[in-house]
Amino acid sequence: MYHRIAEVDIDPWDLCVSPTHFEQHLQTLQKNYPILSVNELADQLQTGQLTKQAIVLTFDDGYADNFTIARPMLEKYGIPASFFLTTQPLLDQQRFWWDDLQQIICQTPLLPDRLSLPIADDNLEFELLTEARLTTALRTSLSTWKAHLAPPSRRAMLYQHIWEKLKPLPHHLQQQTLHALRCWSGAESMATPCPSVMTVAQVRELSQHSLIDVGGHTISHPALANHSRAVQQHEVAGGKSQLDELCRRSLTSFAYPYGNYNQTTRQVVEQAGFSIAFTTRAVATTRHTDRYQIGRLQIPDCTGPQLQKQINKLL
Ligand SMILES: [Zn+2]
Repeated sequence: MYHRIAEVDIDPWDLCVSPTHFEQHLQTLQKNYPILSVNELADQLQTGQLTKQAIVLTFDDGYADNFTIARPMLEKYGIPASFFLTTQPLLDQQRFWWDDLQQIICQTPLLPDRLSLPIADDNLEFELLTEARLTTALRTSLSTWKAHLAPPSRRAMLYQHIWEKLKPLPHHLQQQTLHALRCWSGAESMATPCPSVMTVAQVRELSQHSLIDVGGHTISHPALANHSRAVQQHEVAGGKSQLDELCRRSLTSFAYPYGNYNQTTRQVVEQAGFSIAFTTRAVATTRHTDRYQIGRLQIPDCTGPQLQKQINKLL
């Protein structure tokens, strides 16, 4: 499971793999493992005859670098992959909320030292103390921080706290909070560009591609299990019909945003017409695996040999 192929300063969720490392990954994978497309995996699960130690490559969310950086490299090595796309950012050319949040909290050079922010049913009161100004030392500390570790700074703590609060909320409430944060932060937060998502034209081109397949990842990337069946249906089936229309065919694969799902989600995904769905649990697939709960390994920004070690631990 990849998200972005890019080199960035701050990446608390390990979403980015550098282009150099990505090319090493493709070389390592090609040399050491059979590589299947998602469709081939779905067919093999149907027949119960799985190719041993095979790999399937997927990319979540639909960042522009998937098209501009990953696609040409996949072509160079003739390796198939599936891109799971969230439709609203794509159709509205809007940024993902976590990128906006990171830009405001972790990259704004000067923030007000006090924040009072209504969020969900709560009011967050926070003081940045000495961290209102983004010093070189603070920037360095943020660039090495990972979200699964305790936050080493006030800014990291604030980011992590708001992230946790925003994740279960519906899209419009996330956007409301981000709007309030942007106003609080002043114009300076817009100084660094946010990573962009693919355009409609790029998705159309991908849908014709012989190596690349497109799959569903909802309309607005909600943590589905936190929402009612009706909202889940709207997000899953609505996202599918938007992509079906864009790609002019019926898509068959889906990835749960944040790997978050419950039994209702699984049903909703099957009823929407998807025949295979991916989680974010790092487990290998066997012929007994439920085809709506296929595990995936999140690939960190590591070298080819390091990747091989990680994969072999799972197999
Ligand atoms: Zn996602």
